[in-house]
Amino acid sequence: MSDEITIPARRRVLSGMRPTGRLHLGNYVGALKNWVELQNEFECYFFIADFHALTTDYADTGKLPENVREVVLDFLAAGLDPKRCTIFLQSKVPAHFVLNSLLEMITPLSWLERVPTYKDQQEQLKEKDLATIGFLGYPVLQSADILVYQADFVPVGQDQAAHVEITREIARRFNHLYPGEVLPEPKVLLTPSPKLPGTDGRKMSKSYGNTILLSDPEAEVRAKLKTMVTDPARVRRADPGNPDVCPVFDLHRVFSSEEMRVEVREGCTTAGIGCIQCKGWLSDAVVKELAPIQERRAYFEAHPDEVQAILDDGAVRANERAAVTMQQVYAAVGLG
Ligand code: SF4
Repeated sequence: MSDEITIPARRRVLSGMRPTGRLHLGNYVGALKNWVELQNEFECYFFIADFHALTTDYADTGKLPENVREVVLDFLAAGLDPKRCTIFLQSKVPAHFVLNSLLEMITPLSWLERVPTYKDQQEQLKEKDLATIGFLGYPVLQSADILVYQADFVPVGQDQAAHVEITREIARRFNHLYPGEVLPEPKVLLTPSPKLPGTDGRKMSKSYGNTILLSDPEAEVRAKLKTMVTDPARVRRADPGNPDVCPVFDLHRVFSSEEMRVEVREGCTTAGIGCIQCKGWLSDAVVKELAPIQERRAYFEAHPDEVQAILDDGAVRANERAAVTMQQVYAAVGLG
């Protein structure tokens, strides 16, 4: 009998982010922080979706290189470890686009036209001409991104789960048309995505200008949090407040310890503490969370060659894995 031990392959996870420039706390707790955990358990591929940026910003790519650079730095700063996951740029793996073309052949137009974000985004971004094939086909490219790695899971928050559905439908259609069940239907991996308001109380988002960046210096974090909106009914210091309707407390829920939250709730509801003090405690917690992130960022900012080597190596690994899928895809379709 052979002594050989078979180590089961780790299940594969794929996720990406558009290069929107420096990332904020919302990006961190909604995605990056989860990815850092996942890299210990899964075979992970994390990419910067630079090609996707063109679907809405094709007419102005001037900031693209800088935005890509900032996102790579924030990926590494947040704790993605190239020894434990593959980090790469989408545009460096041509198999994404070859598979995209093949999937476009089999995807009915009606499936794309009914994607809710298609009409919503056209409405929201009225200043841009989004009546393009690329914009309509965004979900197909997104599906190719996932399917080209034969990913088992796509990590998403509860509100995003529906986005993976069209990828599953496209994979099903491919497997129905061609032999071999080559493209497995990826499953949703539900990851924590706590409510994270920005300084104005709305969802933290770059487009609202209400963000706290992972790279904001301590003084800026404190200054931004100082102006954050609170329970609107707490007008005077002597008024008791309600933490459950206060955006500052939503951040305490994410960044502060249990003891601190108890102290805030007690102090707020009895008017024992003022909002300035409460925000000071929150600032301490956020600054503490950001300290190791900023330390890593400073290191990678000072070592651009190392960052480039990580991306180059990531592209090699991603291309190798994608090639395995594409060989099976070509054979199934009868190409080559
Ligand atoms: S004390 Fe804190 S939780 Fe209470 S209203 Fe002020 S900022 Fe919000």
